[in-house]
Amino acid sequence: LIVPSWNQFCQHMKEIYEICKDANGGKVADYIPQLARFDPNLWSVAICTVDGQRASWGDSKKPFCVQSVSKAYNYAIAASELGADLVHHYVGQEPSGRFFNEICLDTHNKPHNPMVNSGAIITSSLIKNEMNMADRFDHMLNEYRKISGGEYVGFNNAVFLSERATADRNFALSYFMKENGCFPPQTKNLAEALDFYFQLCSLEVTCESMAVMAATLANGGVCPITEERCIASRPARDVLTLMNSCGIRPARDVLTLMNSCGMYDYSGQFSFHVGLPAKSGVSGVVIVVIPNLLGIALWSPPLDEMGNSVRGVQFCKELVNRFNFHNYDSL
Ligand code: GLU
Repeated sequence: LIVPSWNQFCQHMKEIYEICKDANGGKVADYIPQLARFDPNLWSVAICTVDGQRASWGDSKKPFCVQSVSKAYNYAIAASELGADLVHHYVGQEPSGRFFNEICLDTHNKPHNPMVNSGAIITSSLIKNEMNMADRFDHMLNEYRKISGGEYVGFNNAVFLSERATADRNFALSYFMKENGCFPPQTKNLAEALDFYFQLCSLEVTCESMAVMAATLANGGVCPITEERCIASRPARDVLTLMNSCGIRPARDVLTLMNSCGMYDYSGQFSFHVGLPAKSGVSGVVIVVIPNLLGIALWSPPLDEMGNSVRGVQFCKELVNRFNFHNYDSL
């Protein structure tokens, strides 16, 4: 077993869960009513190791939308299918140092990275863009379900419709990117490209299914429950030969980007204090990956000024205080 003293470890997790339960700062996102209605007291933690040991605390079976956590998985799926070289022909790897939905591009006129809205819109527009919208959605639902080991992944149509109805910024961003030639040639219809992005934000999970999805990343792209490879560790051999490059590994690359760009404008500080790849979303979800060990899903709707879950960030800080999980704790 990868975590031999499991009960002891879980006791610590439960203690941290209880400590964070008392936090009462932050504000539930209210830009759409579907998010504003969430009870600020909701709080859950779920963990899944790379060998499939599981535990959860709190409201771990209550569904919520993945929102910006989709950006990490969409990138992983795109890079697995197309090779990271092609994805990065359209999207950079640099933290933007700007708001996640700011109307700006890098010096090559590309979105800064796949974890900001601009980069995520372009990344999703690369996925199966020869198919029709219905098939593309089905494809992604299937991929998400594989990554979650067949556990709960749903779709919240009310969130999708609300996102689309209040999407002025994302439309502005997309027209700006269209003007700058950021989209692949297959993208003919901007509204469809945005619908696809909103649909992926509106996929629904529970803390338990999200923990399996995080564990798949911790396990290098192989789901620990089904042992199915869902995210390429490196491209298939023929692709590799074609690209004549061996530095491209989607499972590794997504964690690298989460490490530098996953927590909005707190990413640098999070990387400093916690030192683990993570991605958060406006629903109050945070996934944290301890490579080769465990995936963690945290969910609590109240957000801090940076847009990260207050209890989620507090949990991560407490976790690295107790365990030497920080990237550089071995020094
Ligand atoms: N649907 C949101 C947007 O595109 C994503 C919010 C988030 O989780 O950051 O603006």
